[in-house]
Amino acid sequence: MKKSLILVAAALSFAATAQTYPTAKPISIVVPFAAGGPTDRVARDLAEAMRKPLGGVSIVIENAAGAGSSIGSNKVAKANPDGYTLLLTHIGMATMPTLVRNLPFKVESDFEYLGLVNDVPMTLVAKPMIAANNYKELATWINQNKGKINLGNAGVGSASHLCGLLFQSAVQVDMTTVPYKGTAPAMTDLIGGQIDLMCDQTTNTTSQIEAKKIKVFAVTTAQRLHTPALKDLPTLQESGLKGFEVTIWHGLYAPKGTPTEILTKLNAALKVALKDPDFIKKQEGLGAVVVTDKRMEPAEHKKFVAAEIAKLSPIIKAAGVYAD
Ligand code: ASP
Repeated sequence: MKKSLILVAAALSFAATAQTYPTAKPISIVVPFAAGGPTDRVARDLAEAMRKPLGGVSIVIENAAGAGSSIGSNKVAKANPDGYTLLLTHIGMATMPTLVRNLPFKVESDFEYLGLVNDVPMTLVAKPMIAANNYKELATWINQNKGKINLGNAGVGSASHLCGLLFQSAVQVDMTTVPYKGTAPAMTDLIGGQIDLMCDQTTNTTSQIEAKKIKVFAVTTAQRLHTPALKDLPTLQESGLKGFEVTIWHGLYAPKGTPTEILTKLNAALKVALKDPDFIKKQEGLGAVVVTDKRMEPAEHKKFVAAEIAKLSPIIKAAGVYAD
């Protein structure tokens, strides 16, 4: 067959695939962190809510954890752009370009942006046996234990890494960071006392706080939260860490080059999911806030990530930590 005919045939089959999408096979949403953690939780709730508007198709979660989210994100950047492999990830998209020197993908040009999902506060939490019951006592404990403190995180570029960096620089105490494939396994070690402290999303900490399996000292947002389990917690700003503010957001992505028709279907399904009362209720119960209509738009999502990179880059550089 002549080359031009082959190209026409390929284009026609691509168009047919876009028209019948998503009936060919299950959609896989890659989560670049361990199962059972906060990013995984958002992805599973979102997958459930997107299933119906996508015609009942099955949506599976694939945990491709490691390297602070760059392994899973890279997997999607290099995946076939057919709409069957998507990425659900968080603020790591905006921290990694500054933090990781040899990032194997380009945040700006290797993805199609499908829309933001939610904003999630973080909490400063500690092992249950720590000798402190409020932030003031924790500050004393930190000063008494300089050089011995272990701070868990989900790897370079993760939300817990960013929050931990900012916390160490705010209290001016260096801590030994212990990286995990996600804050689900880190939480197990925090409960067991193998690590001392961690910053983690409320979507992972709320149930452990309620069960009194860990101690909590403050929220990382500028305002206190309304969630019943977290409403009495002070902010880190109130606790004396001037200007301290970290909020995590999640977004949905497809590989660059995914046909427009498929992207339109996915964005429409995302919007339906984000208005689903069950999804909203689950998110709110864990301290997360579903984004407004404007931020569900792909163009707005892309603009927001670029603005976050610009905002976070000088902060990360000031903290002076990089990885290869
Ligand atoms: N909470 C993790 C982080 O620190 C990610 C995760 O395990 O979902 O980025």
